[in-house]
Amino acid sequence: MSKVHNFSAGPSILNQGVLKKAAQAVENFNNSGLSILEISHRSKDFIAVMDNAVALVKELLEVPEGYSVLFLQGGASTGFLKTILNFMKQDGTGAYLNTGTWSKKALKEAEKLGKLNMVASSEDKNFNYIPKVYPISTNDNYLHITTNNTIFGTQIKNIPVSRIPLIADMSSDIFSRKINISDYAMIYAGAQKNLGPAGTTLYIVKDSLLGKTGRTIPTMLDLRVHADKGSMFNTPPVYPIYVSMLTLEWLKANGGVEWIEKVNQEKADLIYNEIDSNSIFEGTAAIEDRSNMNVTFVLTNPDAQADFDKMWKEAGINGINGHRDVGGYRASIYNAMPKESIQVLVDIMKELAKKYDLANS
Ligand SMILES: *Cc1c(COP(=O)(O)O)cnc(C)c1O
Repeated sequence: MSKVHNFSAGPSILNQGVLKKAAQAVENFNNSGLSILEISHRSKDFIAVMDNAVALVKELLEVPEGYSVLFLQGGASTGFLKTILNFMKQDGTGAYLNTGTWSKKALKEAEKLGKLNMVASSEDKNFNYIPKVYPISTNDNYLHITTNNTIFGTQIKNIPVSRIPLIADMSSDIFSRKINISDYAMIYAGAQKNLGPAGTTLYIVKDSLLGKTGRTIPTMLDLRVHADKGSMFNTPPVYPIYVSMLTLEWLKANGGVEWIEKVNQEKADLIYNEIDSNSIFEGTAAIEDRSNMNVTFVLTNPDAQADFDKMWKEAGINGINGHRDVGGYRASIYNAMPKESIQVLVDIMKELAKKYDLANS
């Protein structure tokens, strides 16, 4: 089979060099004669992996003193719970910005375990924009945001200035652009979009804010415990952490977050410019809120659908069917997606428009 262009939304594309090293470590890790899958998480070799992964996160995101970097299990979906248990006071409230399916799942958990204040929502327009103006009350214990809405293709471009602790689900845009860690009380991100395979979730949390809720927190959900134990309270997800470390090494070797942010902008411009100039495609997200990670679009001419689907499949493109909640198409162009693959898709879009423009003239 010829080259596959993987536009999957998640789990998603990883760098080819990372995959090669990851495959090698399954057979023979560090020339030990052992697989990384069969060594102790307390072994010298794995502790070096964990230390390196944490150090790379700190370096690439310029994490200041006073924050813990943790690699835990449970997916970002457990992050919804950890947010509440670690930051919402026993009788307190959590404020939520409702910008999509994942934000909504996060706030549904707050409804179950505590009190919810939804500060704004874009559900009125099927989450195709980011609300910009909303009150933030100091009565709330934190403000929870989803920086990139994987399903609807919107992204918060200007992070709200918040007088209460800001907590962000960055599952689908962590390491894609520069962020200022000290703006946040906590950031969490499932690895499987921009970092590694499914199975670990990255947490960056401000230590001084932990342990203040007055709640009894089950041990596995207590971030203080994980911070104290350096993500080793129980067996950490060894292999996903290793592959994440390899991805971070790749990112650093190429120029870090500053480099990838520039590349990501070029990649997004390439496809959005085509969508905007092409008569038979249309973007679904508000232009100023468009995501640089997930590009959602529809065909304006339904007659062209069968042709389009045939053409991209023949070109080796994978994973651009839209989410069932939006329809149409979604091209996920995470960090590891090369510009060349986007060009393949753009060329098909051009070819298709030529054909149907001619038919209409
Ligand atoms: C994929 C995704 C999730 C879900 O992550 P899990 O690790 O499957 O729990 C949550 N939030 C966002 C923004 C996502 O893109």
